[in-house]
Formats: sequence, C-alpha cells, structure tokens
Amino acid sequence: MTVKMPPQTLERRDLFKLGVGATAGVLSTASAETYPEFRRRLRESDCQRCALAAGRRHIVVDRGNPDAAIIGISDAPSFVEDAQGIPFCGRAGQKLDELFAAEGLSTDKHLLLVNVVKCHPPYNRPPHPDEMARCEPFLERQLAFSPARFVVLLGIFALRRFAPERRPFSAHVGQFFRLPQWPGREVLPLHHPALLLRNPSLEPLMRKHIRELAARVAT
Ligand code: SF4
Repeated sequence: MTVKMPPQTLERRDLFKLGVGATAGVLSTASAETYPEFRRRLRESDCQRCALAAGRRHIVVDRGNPDAAIIGISDAPSFVEDAQGIPFCGRAGQKLDELFAAEGLSTDKHLLLVNVVKCHPPYNRPPHPDEMARCEPFLERQLAFSPARFVVLLGIFALRRFAPERRPFSAHVGQFFRLPQWPGREVLPLHHPALLLRNPSLEPLMRKHIRELAARVAT
C-alpha cells in the first residue's frame, strides 16, 4: 500500500534535501548559517520544486552585496541572466548600474539584486503564481539574512507580487511605503530597467526616484 505523505512534510523534505552532496548527507539551504553558504548551496542544488527547473541553465541567486542597505527584487531571470547565472548582467542591468551610479550608488556595493524566482521562465513570460510560491522560501531566506533598510521592487510584477492592492503601478512608482511582513524596511517600487530600454522617456523620472532613494540611504 502506498502511504501518502502530508503536503507540509513533503515541503519540508524538499527544502531540506536541496543541494545534497555525494557523501556528506543533507546540505540544506534552510540550515545554512551564512549567506555565502546559502548562496553556494542553492546555486549548486538541482532544485526541482517547480516547473521552471526543466528549462533553466543556471539557478540565478543574486548579484551585489548581501550586507547592502538596499535589496532590489525583480520577477525572474532573463534569457541572458540564465545563460550567465547572474541577475541583471545584460543591457537592462547595465542601465540599472548606470542610473544608480549617477546617484553615487554602486549596484555591486550598495545593493543586493535578486529575483522572486531563481530560474528563467520560457519565452520570458512572467512567472506563474505557483512558481513564485514554490520559490518564495529562498527569497524569504535572502530577506532574513539581509540587513537592508530598503526594498526596491523593480517593475510591475514585483509590486503586484508583494502589494497587489497597489494598482495601477503608475500611481505607486517612486512612492515609499511599508509592508507588515517587512518591519523596519521602506519599500519603493521603481520601473524595471528593461522598460527604460524600450521607453527612454521614463528615464528622467527613474533618475529622480533613485535620487530620492539615495538621499534616504545617506541619512
Ligand atoms: S524557480 Fe525556484 S523553486 Fe523553481 S526550480 Fe528554480 S530554484 Fe527551484
């Protein structure tokens, strides 16, 4: 007779078996004591928690400084990011680098850049709700390690994920707010830099928003 495990047990078992080493037993992202260890275990894992595992080339964990005052969250790795295994490494990333650098902030030093899901969705489609839910424990872990005082939500999908009631995006972009799940942190929605590549007329507004963020970071 097949014994069905309750869903919660399966969840815990999946999470704790990520990154299993050949001989060393269970290496778990959940029990990693430092951020570099968490990052290494997730990168090296063969996570199969959602359907995005089928098409990925890399598990894209982060770019930047885990101790930074700002954590930037986007929706998912792009095709280029999947190929290189690094978030924001393509033209959109270069635009983001340029915009932050203009306000005295380095994306490698003053930010940690992450995605809601760590694997590239096919055809650059937005991640599905179930994929985001399956991957969210990793983002939660990143937020738990991070001392960031500011959470920047990059693009409409990131805002919709964490504050779905804040619509339309155009009414909230550049507006600081707080969320109960992230006490002590200010949240700032910004345009996704990929949108700026398609619509450069948005760039002055994005520069203004980053300038306001830089001013708060400095205080
Ligand atoms: S997107 Fe997240 S949950 Fe899905 S396979 Fe990749 S790492 Fe695992």
